[in-house]
Amino acid sequence: MGQTEAIIELESVSMAFVTRPRGGSHRALLALDNVSARIERGSFVTLVGPSGCGKSTILKLVAGLLRPTAGRVLYKGRPVQAVNTDVGFVTQDDNLLPWRNLLENVQLALELRGVPRPQREQRALELIERVGLKGFEHHYPHELSGGMRKRASIIRTLVYDPDVLLMDEPFGPLDAQTRMVLQDELLRLWQGSGKTILFVTHDLVESVALSDRILVFSRAPGRILKEYVVDIPRPRDVFHIHEAPNFNRIFDSLWNDIRGQLLEQRFRARAEEASA
Ligand code: ADP
Ligand code: MG
Repeated sequence: MGQTEAIIELESVSMAFVTRPRGGSHRALLALDNVSARIERGSFVTLVGPSGCGKSTILKLVAGLLRPTAGRVLYKGRPVQAVNTDVGFVTQDDNLLPWRNLLENVQLALELRGVPRPQREQRALELIERVGLKGFEHHYPHELSGGMRKRASIIRTLVYDPDVLLMDEPFGPLDAQTRMVLQDELLRLWQGSGKTILFVTHDLVESVALSDRILVFSRAPGRILKEYVVDIPRPRDVFHIHEAPNFNRIFDSLWNDIRGQLLEQRFRARAEEASA
């Protein structure tokens, strides 16, 4: 075959949710429509697309938090049939436990796995130092800045060394400068780790800066419209990514795809309004 090994495979995945608008009857909402993709081991793949196109749903399917209505989700060659504890999930909210300090939050997953205190503290302290949080070990989440809490939530996931990181708009609420610093740190943590990252963002610059491949989704029901290979050499300078060769070509084309989807969405909403 000559292909690199896939760690995650989506085979003709469709996902319908049954919803019940207040006072109405049950309705099926198709969130994903026949999506197929393979994510190679060790790669950094980003999903972009209009809001509601099913990006978060894909991460939840890979994490085993949802089951597809049709098709299969394979993880390391096997269908995902239960909660997939092999992956780390970083969501937009940092979900740190407010009653635990930074060190206690970071080592939580190891504690749950029964790793003895000296080992788990050592591992947590290493990661805390790597992301520049040394000195804040005994601070509680409310005593940390947004960027610091975000770092904490990422290393809290890395602490148990998952092969795959699922990241759902992790840098969404941060200011532009902090985002770039965190993107840079994430690339450093990932580079050479062999880990696979499946990342969701609505920021097209971020998608180009970080990924090997970008999958562009259509408006709902989500389908893969297009796929980009980001052939910008690594290590990358996220602070000057717009100066990289090929940046403009990929960014312009991505923007064109997304704009088309947004216009179509708006056009459809108007047509619905008019016919109502
Ligand atoms: P995205 O992350 O791309 O914004 P989502 O994957 O969150 O999109 O959602 C895709 C669609 O599925 C949306 O219309 C959303 O309202 C719907 N949806 C997601 N999760 C559920 C759920 N648990 N129950 C009902 N509808 C859902
Ligand atoms: Mg989402």
